[in-house]
Amino acid sequence: MSIGQKDIKLLWGRSGNRCAICKIELTQDALSSNASFALGEQAHIVGEKEDAARGKSQLDQKQRDSYHNLILLCPNDHTTIDRNESDWSIEKLHQIKSEHELWVTETLSETIDHVKLAQNTILASIVDSAVTLCRLDDWHNWTSYALSSDPQWSKDSPKNIYKFRKKVIAAIWPKGFDEFRRATITLSILLHKAVETFMEHSDLRGDTYFPYKFYKRINPNPNYDEDWQRYDHWLDRCDSTMYDATKAANWFADVVRTYVNPMFFVEQGKFIIEKGPMMDGCWHTKLLEFTDSEKEQYPEKTLEIEEDCLVK
Ligand SMILES: [Zn+2]
Repeated sequence: MSIGQKDIKLLWGRSGNRCAICKIELTQDALSSNASFALGEQAHIVGEKEDAARGKSQLDQKQRDSYHNLILLCPNDHTTIDRNESDWSIEKLHQIKSEHELWVTETLSETIDHVKLAQNTILASIVDSAVTLCRLDDWHNWTSYALSSDPQWSKDSPKNIYKFRKKVIAAIWPKGFDEFRRATITLSILLHKAVETFMEHSDLRGDTYFPYKFYKRINPNPNYDEDWQRYDHWLDRCDSTMYDATKAANWFADVVRTYVNPMFFVEQGKFIIEKGPMMDGCWHTKLLEFTDSEKEQYPEKTLEIEEDCLVK
């Protein structure tokens, strides 16, 4: 797990978007970094890993990646502190960070928009929940199980997706982020719908949900053909609800890049899905996205399915 969006927002906000050592102004956007704005680096005070600079510590990975263990630096100063560990101890870096944040509040407080900072923190916290609870960072992998001809879901996924849905229902949305709100609600409903559809005919075995093949429940089954058709239709519905959820995930990532962090999942790219093996033995890879006019219809379009989803 990498650094969460909420920790990133806190770090950048409290650092006044400046390097804690030389105080030059930094940008978060790799695409707009140029001569006037260096690309900011979220440096680990205690190293990210045991074998990194200043890495020997009892801290676990989550603590290492938290706001409290990060310091915002320009690339030059980041290199300097990592190359001269003896001159730049953990204690010294904590001291520099506190002094810098104090300097920011005293000197730049009028230029910091506290309302905006609070709004960003709310949005960032929702983004972090989506990444963790909807497994955005592993989308391609887990959805390929959900889309196989014998669909499988891990035991925790349904529970986590319900949790995300509840968090979104309870969220207090800052004003002026309408598309962000709509995309997030849509993702939570459509992914929830995909879970609900799959759970209609599934069995938990160990840590995994498998399909319940009800057409085989009695042998011989006098309604075999009819049941098989119903089962096959259910498989199609599992696929199509997962396709919709993937479109929603791509829309969500787009609005996160617009409103929260321009670098969100830029390295990994869009969420693609893989379905297979098909009759021809091949795997089919697809990039699924809503059109602009489809986006306009959401989340209202999901209203009719939302009510039965919330029963669970
Ligand atoms: Zn610097």
